[in-house]
Amino acid sequence: MTPPREWLKPPLSLLALLFLVTFVSVSALAWLGWKLLDQERAVEAQRAQEGLEQASDRIAALARGVLAETGERLGTWLIAPPAGGKPEDGLLLILFGDGGFAAMPPQRLLYRPAAPLRLDDSASIFADGETMEFQQKLPERAMEAYRKLALPNNSPEIRAGALVRLARVLRKVHREQDARAVYRQLTGGSADLAAVRVGGVPAGLIARHAICELSRDRSCARQLRQDLLRARWPVTRDQFAYYWSEASHLSGETGAPPANTSALAEAVEQSWTAIHSAQSPRGQTTVWVADRPWFVIWRGAPNHRTALVITPESLLKPLLAGSDVSLAAVDGEGRVVAGRRNSTAHAVVRTPAETHLPWTLYMTSAQGLNETGVIGRQRFLLLAMALMVVFLIAGAYFIARAIRGDLAVARMQSDFVSAVSHEFRSPLTSIRQLSELLALGRVPSEDRRRVYYETLVRETTRLQSLVEALLNFGRMEAGVRRYRFEPLDAAVLVSRVAAEFEPRIAGSGRRIELDGSAGSCTIDADPEALSVALRNLVDNALKYAPDGDAVRVKWGVEDSRVAIRVRDRGPGIPDSERRAIFRRFVRGSAAEAANVKGSGVGLAMVRHIVAAHGGDVVLESELGTGSEFTILLPLGENR
Ligand code: ADP
Repeated sequence: MTPPREWLKPPLSLLALLFLVTFVSVSALAWLGWKLLDQERAVEAQRAQEGLEQASDRIAALARGVLAETGERLGTWLIAPPAGGKPEDGLLLILFGDGGFAAMPPQRLLYRPAAPLRLDDSASIFADGETMEFQQKLPERAMEAYRKLALPNNSPEIRAGALVRLARVLRKVHREQDARAVYRQLTGGSADLAAVRVGGVPAGLIARHAICELSRDRSCARQLRQDLLRARWPVTRDQFAYYWSEASHLSGETGAPPANTSALAEAVEQSWTAIHSAQSPRGQTTVWVADRPWFVIWRGAPNHRTALVITPESLLKPLLAGSDVSLAAVDGEGRVVAGRRNSTAHAVVRTPAETHLPWTLYMTSAQGLNETGVIGRQRFLLLAMALMVVFLIAGAYFIARAIRGDLAVARMQSDFVSAVSHEFRSPLTSIRQLSELLALGRVPSEDRRRVYYETLVRETTRLQSLVEALLNFGRMEAGVRRYRFEPLDAAVLVSRVAAEFEPRIAGSGRRIELDGSAGSCTIDADPEALSVALRNLVDNALKYAPDGDAVRVKWGVEDSRVAIRVRDRGPGIPDSERRAIFRRFVRGSAAEAANVKGSGVGLAMVRHIVAAHGGDVVLESELGTGSEFTILLPLGENR
């Protein structure tokens, strides 16, 4: 028997060659596939780059369009200011010839860039009152003077100035109720009165602040804060800061105005010089407030001009929202004014010289290189390679198995030929020697001659049975053996076979013990074929049983089948051989150990014959204890 792993041993060189050829072809194929994928990736990248270039040109043109359109809109607003609430983003400034300006929407400008120019030139009119108030310390008389000036027949400027001063004196003389009443005239009276600047500060704001101060009412101060945030009064930055802190202090609320609103006012402040004094009728600039850029663009002559202050981000909003290309606008100093700059991806750059824009545009593909197709194909290639490797291993395995099988058959056949030749040689040798002696008349005694004749008969019978067995096996293998079934009592079969062995074992000390009753187990069988099978089993048992020991043949009905058991107390059969010994030409270790001659076809024949009878052969064996072969056959129908 060959150990199971042995089959891979021969012929290694052939396997190695097979493996090498397949390995080289798989590698070449993989390399080619990889190259192809690489090429495809390059083409994909090229295509993406071209797409990006085109998209970049389109975006640059759009950005130019946005700027041109904004300029045009400013030109239109120069002639007809927009409706309230416009523009939607940023702040529109309309400059007038007298140095004044309007902000639109007004509430977006927290404070004004320059001091309001219309200072109250009526200050001299209050000189008398102020002399009495401050130098002569005559408050009553000062109040008298101010009251006169506050009469409705005077201009709003004079009236507002007089009321502020009157209230001031009233506070000094601790007539706070009266002072509040006077301030209310300013806040509750006509808008003209409230808008008058007293000492550069809107009278309405002075009055509101004073009322909140006098009333110590937090909600009043809170409201003042809200109004300051809504840019209710045109104030300068310092005024805003002062009244904001006052209102915060009085209301007990903390916190700065919203950063964006303050930044816009600050941006207007910073760009004011450019906006109101640039001579060119069209211009633009970018100012930075707390690391945030503001874009300022204007149209018109200095005395009649519209200017838009807006973040580049909101100006370019429609372009930044695009999903396939991500855009960043960068100023001359490398600062990003709009969008986000992706420094990891390859960017297409459009300079101001190319685009006539104030910024350099950096555009990258937002989705990155579309590699899904390539990755899919890569995976497919890997899978195909893995499959090929599996096929390679499986192919090598099966080829090795086939080669090994063929070799085993060849070896078995050669073993068979040598075994059979040996079987033939010993009887033939004795036949030849004895017949020679007899032919030459060298055997004088009659008794001796009889012994020789008997030996000749025995040896020829052995030869005949050997030839018969081989022919039988050959017929069986070829499938031409015809079985003739007839009812047969197992007891008759067993007795007949046992009787055949009697002459052979007589005097050798061996015995065959029979155990079973006659007529109890009838089977449908070909008596001749089944005798061959049983004969083989008994023959084997006798061969392997120890000298002087009995071989037991037992028959009976078990589980509605007829069982014929042949048992010996021989060496037993190892587990690893139990299946193999039923194959043709296979001989086991017991045969080798006991130097038993044979051809390895006996058990194969038994299995064949029993299967043809619709039965099974079962082997039970224990090493060192013995073996039991059982023929199980269906019960005959007419028993
Ligand atoms: P052969 O007897 O010619 O070798 P068989 O097919 O009859 O061929 O038997 C195959 C092998 O089975 C034998 O070589 C032997 O190793 C093993 N064998 C068969 N019968 C027995 C038995 N009763 N005890 C031990 N081994 C046995």
